[in-house]
Amino acid sequence: MAFEGSISAEELASIQETIPQEVLLTATQEYVIFHVIETPYKNLTMKCQFPLQYPSSPLLFELETKTLPERVKRKLVDKCEQEAEQLADKGQPQVLALWTFLSTLLQSNQLLLCTEHISDIKSRLLTGPHDSLKLSERNGTVTVRVEEAGFVVDFTVKVPRGYPGEQLELRCREATYPPAVTHMFFKQAEEVARRASKGIPLNVSLRESDPAKPSEEVVQLSISQYKHDVKFLKVAGELARMSDDKQMRREKKVLDKREWEREQQQATQVAQTAARSAPTGIPKAHRDGGEPVPALYAVVEYIVNKFARLLPHEKCAHCKQPVIDAIKKGEKQADPAERAFCGHWFHSSCLEHVMTKPPFGMQCPGDGCDSRVFHPKWTSDVKTLERRWAAAQARQREVDDARDFLGL
Ligand SMILES: [Zn+2]
Ligand SMILES: [Zn+2]
Repeated sequence: MAFEGSISAEELASIQETIPQEVLLTATQEYVIFHVIETPYKNLTMKCQFPLQYPSSPLLFELETKTLPERVKRKLVDKCEQEAEQLADKGQPQVLALWTFLSTLLQSNQLLLCTEHISDIKSRLLTGPHDSLKLSERNGTVTVRVEEAGFVVDFTVKVPRGYPGEQLELRCREATYPPAVTHMFFKQAEEVARRASKGIPLNVSLRESDPAKPSEEVVQLSISQYKHDVKFLKVAGELARMSDDKQMRREKKVLDKREWEREQQQATQVAQTAARSAPTGIPKAHRDGGEPVPALYAVVEYIVNKFARLLPHEKCAHCKQPVIDAIKKGEKQADPAERAFCGHWFHSSCLEHVMTKPPFGMQCPGDGCDSRVFHPKWTSDVKTLERRWAAAQARQREVDDARDFLGL
């Protein structure tokens, strides 16, 4: 029988001396079982038995792992078989050699857990003729370069030792995209990485990673407020037109007062909503998270597909011109790109125009968009906008009057 052999008392002694007690499960002359545990996410178990001619024949082993990808496991098995055969040719003991090989490899190769994500990144994301991928297994870095329509982004994702329980680190090495936009997308990708390490599912993080997107509840509030505002302005306008009438003036006063009270209520409600969704804006069910999620592919995909590939082709929804220009290192874009809540892009000046000039509460001019334009930097409150506009107009009238007065 093949398994009837055994190791020498001397080899057994050196195994017991070298492999730490807590990972040496069984150690007899007939049977040796040990764990190699690098992290909770990177470990394996090795079971060794011995043929009669051992150590002149290679030992027989079984390698088990629930954490390493199948293709990594197959590679490890091949390597161990080769190693055992080489030692058998020289008639040398093999168990410790395999233990050393496996523990060194798990310790020094930081990309073992990422093989599938890396091959997907290569085949699905880096499809351009000038795209490239550089890997360092020792440092655990994945360096991606993407060129799209004359734009370049070059960034490194570092896979830390405790991945996926420890968060991926992102570093932008070079980008010819506007710095503010680049910064925004990298921050969002980092947030996806952070949440994944806390066990929050990728689809939840990605849905929430829209930079200009307020939380669902705040949008609902804004929309209901918008509807109310339109009604208010209509009624107030009618009353104002009839303001010669004493009764009407009184009614308008009551209406204004009620409106003021409602505004106070609404402000409280918005503050409460914001407090409820703080600090992360993650639905409560996901806030605690489960097992860490491997996020390498998702993070790279976010930067490549949602940012690098898309933005050079994005047109301003207002003026229909490209929303970004390639810029030289250290330069700032004169008219920065801004993304509205609906996902459409605008030049900052174009969005300023859309948001602050009547008609207020305008529908987004983007193709096929039936959403109202929202952006966190501009108020969407129709009443505030009306007031500001009216004040600006009044100032202008006064200036005009003053000019007339002086006859200039
Ligand atoms: Zn524009
Ligand atoms: Zn839109």
